[in-house]
Amino acid sequence: MKENNNKTHQLKISNLSKDFGKLQVLRNVSFSFSSGTSVAITGPSGSGKSTLLHIIGTLEKPSNGQVEINGTDPFELSEPELARYRNAVIGFVFQDHHLLPQYSVLENVLIPTLAFKQQPDATQLAQELLNQVGLSDRMSHRPAELSGGERQRVAIARALINKPSILLCDEPTGNLDATTAATVADLLFELHHIERNILIVVTHNLELAGRFENRLKLADGVGILESASSD
Ligand code: ADP
Ligand code: MG
Repeated sequence: MKENNNKTHQLKISNLSKDFGKLQVLRNVSFSFSSGTSVAITGPSGSGKSTLLHIIGTLEKPSNGQVEINGTDPFELSEPELARYRNAVIGFVFQDHHLLPQYSVLENVLIPTLAFKQQPDATQLAQELLNQVGLSDRMSHRPAELSGGERQRVAIARALINKPSILLCDEPTGNLDATTAATVADLLFELHHIERNILIVVTHNLELAGRFENRLKLADGVGILESASSD
């Protein structure tokens, strides 16, 4: 398969901590990943997986420590700059698809491109992505007319439309049956290999976690990184 993204992507987390009042959720978490890396985040419920994903996704500020994405500390940007930066650099897929019900599949995929004025080829790119996720015949359907797995595939296409450096997925297959979950996971890896982005997926599914190059296990605020090369 042809790689269509030659940019180098970099994510560096240094001594990251996050507290909510007295609750210490993350303590001194550090890691660094670059283009083409896949990471599964695992850990018990309440161990801070979503919190870590929100901080990497620049939706939430760390209490301490630093996030650096492609050499930029996003938290040094102004709010409007940060919103634009996030839209350009980060893709999100949640457990619930978060598609807008009143818009078609194609329109939903195009939503992240609306912030950028000059994207004449956005519609073509959206159509290509929907083709890649196997939904080329569903572009004018509304989300309610799709199955759960199909909705997640639309959410993946939407997350990739701006060619993000980092694709963050929070239990993307958590609401799907085992067979559909496996298909959606296959698709995530397939697109990851094409895009060469940094893929970070929170999952409870240990079989799925085993397919990632790296696994970050969170427990008691501490992250332990296991890499395939050190197995
Ligand atoms: P996980 O995704 O691993 O289940 P979370 O990151 O959602 O865990 O939450 C980690 C801990 O932080 C939990 O105890 C949760 O209640 C707490 N928490 C998460 N977000 C907030 C918040 N905005 N305010 C206060 N506590 C929070
Ligand atoms: Mg969570």
